[in-house]
Amino acid sequence: MKAGWQPWTGAMLLLAALIASSPPLAAGTVHFDASSAPETAAWVRSATALAAEWYPRLGNLLASSTDVRLPDVIIRLSPTYEGVAAASANIIEMSAKRVVALPEDSRGVVIHELVHVVQAYPGGSEGWLTEGIADYLRCAVFESMPLADFPRPDKERGYLDSYKVAAGFLLWLESGPAPGIVRQVNAALRQGAYHGSLFKQRTGRGLPELWDEYRAVFSRPGPLPSVTHVWRHSRGRFEKQPDGVWAEFEQDQRAWTFRETSRTDAQIELFDSGRNVHLRLMAKEVRFLSGGNWPTLYRGEWDPSK
Ligand SMILES: [Zn+2]
Repeated sequence: MKAGWQPWTGAMLLLAALIASSPPLAAGTVHFDASSAPETAAWVRSATALAAEWYPRLGNLLASSTDVRLPDVIIRLSPTYEGVAAASANIIEMSAKRVVALPEDSRGVVIHELVHVVQAYPGGSEGWLTEGIADYLRCAVFESMPLADFPRPDKERGYLDSYKVAAGFLLWLESGPAPGIVRQVNAALRQGAYHGSLFKQRTGRGLPELWDEYRAVFSRPGPLPSVTHVWRHSRGRFEKQPDGVWAEFEQDQRAWTFRETSRTDAQIELFDSGRNVHLRLMAKEVRFLSGGNWPTLYRGEWDPSK
């Protein structure tokens, strides 16, 4: 775990967001229709209380200046619906079979689908953010899932995997680099005014860089190989010289000179005092020091033959 990053709990997030929110919004009611699926009656009783508490709360968490009163919602338990659940305007359809099989998980599904009703984004909105915000409120705020438990695919722009992946990314942004970003993105999406540059305006880094920083916080670097003389990436290399000096080549031109300042079994740290640049050569990447974090600069690897 790095300094500057704190594991916010759902309760803390909820409190912070509610303090920041505008006066409470008038929410409509949530009515469950279990007439075609009487086997869900007991679950519906507890879910009705849950929805009565959380529908107005979700409305406040996503309040923006363009709000109108939240609509009345009907949640239909369907014995034939094949998916998990889906919201269309103010009608939510849920699989009765799944509710019986997974009653606890289905409470989270209710939260996720109610978020979609509250979002009311115009068509053509960014799908990964629509689903990411719904799972952020479900998993991070409602279920208090710790940041470390969110899935985090090790690939570029992994946030486009949407749902829980995007939700964890939003939780990390809320917990440090961009507090309040969910409300801000939500307001922009609602007005049809969202653009990816919003993240850069808030943090000084674009979405792909922020994602790399997020996955770097959790990635455990592998050990260095026994031969650590040349580290290559697609556009250049680092090469060990005599007397603790390292040279960086861009293409085949020697461009920069570093001094090796420390070495562990997982990384070699280099410093260029002229430019005040700190680097870490690792098993599969080179990272650089930036604002107290170590985002990835290059991906590549050690040359085993040199
Ligand atoms: Zn959804």
